[in-house]
Amino acid sequence: MKQALISVSNKTGLIDFAQQLIEKKYQIISTGGTYKHLVEASIPCKMIDEVTGFPEIFDGRVKTLHPKIHGGLLGIRDHEKHQIEAKQNNIEWIDMVVVNLYPFKETVNMKNKTDEDIIEQIDIGGPSMLRSAAKNHRYVTVVSDVNDYDQVIKNMDEDGNTSYDLRRELAAKVYQLTASYDAYIATYLTKENYPEKLTLTYEKKQELRYGENPHQSSCFYVSSQDIPYSISSAIQLHGKALSYNNIQDAEACLNMLKTFETHTVVAVKHMNPCGIGTDDHLHKAWEKAYNSDPTSIFGGIVALSGIVDIHLAKQLGNIFLEVILAPDFTDEALEHLRQKKNIRLMKIKTGILEHQKEYKSVSGGLLIQDEDQELFDMLSFPTKAKPLEKDIEEMIFAYRVVKFVKSNAIVLTKDFQTIGIGAGQMNRVGAAKIAIEQAKEKAKDAYLASDAFFPMPDTVELAIKAGVKAIIQPGGSIKDQESIDLCDAHGIPMVFTAMRHFKH
Ligand code: 5GP
Repeated sequence: MKQALISVSNKTGLIDFAQQLIEKKYQIISTGGTYKHLVEASIPCKMIDEVTGFPEIFDGRVKTLHPKIHGGLLGIRDHEKHQIEAKQNNIEWIDMVVVNLYPFKETVNMKNKTDEDIIEQIDIGGPSMLRSAAKNHRYVTVVSDVNDYDQVIKNMDEDGNTSYDLRRELAAKVYQLTASYDAYIATYLTKENYPEKLTLTYEKKQELRYGENPHQSSCFYVSSQDIPYSISSAIQLHGKALSYNNIQDAEACLNMLKTFETHTVVAVKHMNPCGIGTDDHLHKAWEKAYNSDPTSIFGGIVALSGIVDIHLAKQLGNIFLEVILAPDFTDEALEHLRQKKNIRLMKIKTGILEHQKEYKSVSGGLLIQDEDQELFDMLSFPTKAKPLEKDIEEMIFAYRVVKFVKSNAIVLTKDFQTIGIGAGQMNRVGAAKIAIEQAKEKAKDAYLASDAFFPMPDTVELAIKAGVKAIIQPGGSIKDQESIDLCDAHGIPMVFTAMRHFKH
């Protein structure tokens, strides 16, 4: 008779599965809680201590950690010496292990759990059995996921044998599971910000049709679906599945949105903002964002800081947008926007922002840094002309925007609205030219922000020619004085922030 050892925390689907194992002539062995569950459903099974001849001790800390169990899992069936040793030690082969682990991650996420409660949820015997069985997958079937029960039964022949290919696949799944289970424990216990050995745990959230381009395959993995203002936690209310580019752009969009305190609308194209507006009223903020650049917003991604009502929905629905992200939509707004097949509507999770890290891959490596959460260090006013309070507010808005634009970046704003954005240029004056050209006559009396210092006074010269009202930049170039002198010659205030915001 074949033997299956069942020891599960999550008892979903267990009775059905066990019933089918019995039909395939398996003898079931199980641990305390699982035994009780099965016996209550009138499924015949043997208690683990009958096999080990040793009681479960220390409140279940030691249940299955016994040579009779691990020997029964690890012995090589057609190895003469192993057969002899098994006989000498009264070890019977175990052909199948069904284990799912103590819910460690779930316990960490519960609010009211003490450290002691959490430590108790570190499963020891479960992963040990899974690992033993998975190592010996030539003979042993190892089931670590309740979602695999059906597949296992379907795969069995009349005598309850599974195929080698399935056993191998299930074994691989075990090591993915135990590796990520241990990674969660390591993360919980580790205090270091950047530990010596980095353990990451991500789960597949979505298969993507393709990557950045149709010939690249791609998947979306997430570590948590709880992070406010993150695309990983946003809920889709309508539309086709998000694409790789949608996810990247939406994340960029939300990163910008979350840093503004008043009502804000952000429109993004290719991870750069193409229009940002803030205002006391959300409708106004939308108008500003839209009017920033009505050409580029086409096919863009828009995030709004407040609830989308029918009035906004009508305006948003008038142009082609790939994705709209908002904390919520009124029923009427949803109904209206759902008529559009090609639009994706996402409800964002809001909440208190926590410290996040950013990851970037290089071949064979991972670059990690703290998220760029600050805006400026200390404002200083090096020019003779000093900005008014109102001008400073405008400049801070412009500086907040430029922080999110790819370097080299120059942004022009007026009345809390972007009017010219020069992104990702290989020299700063080039970015300024683009921003000014886009702003056209509106560049007059606009505010100019630069993500890093001016290595030459040429950008200031261009800005003055276009008629800008004030300039904000980090400062710190050896040629700062030349830029200051130019501003002074034209009575223009310049503000230093002492904090640059490269974004490469
Ligand atoms: P039960 O509810 O059957 O009493 O316990 C099932 C759980 O115990 C499973 O999640 C399994 O991974 C875990 N488990 C099995 N053997 C051991 C052991 O020897 N020590 C510990 N700590 N957990 C075990």
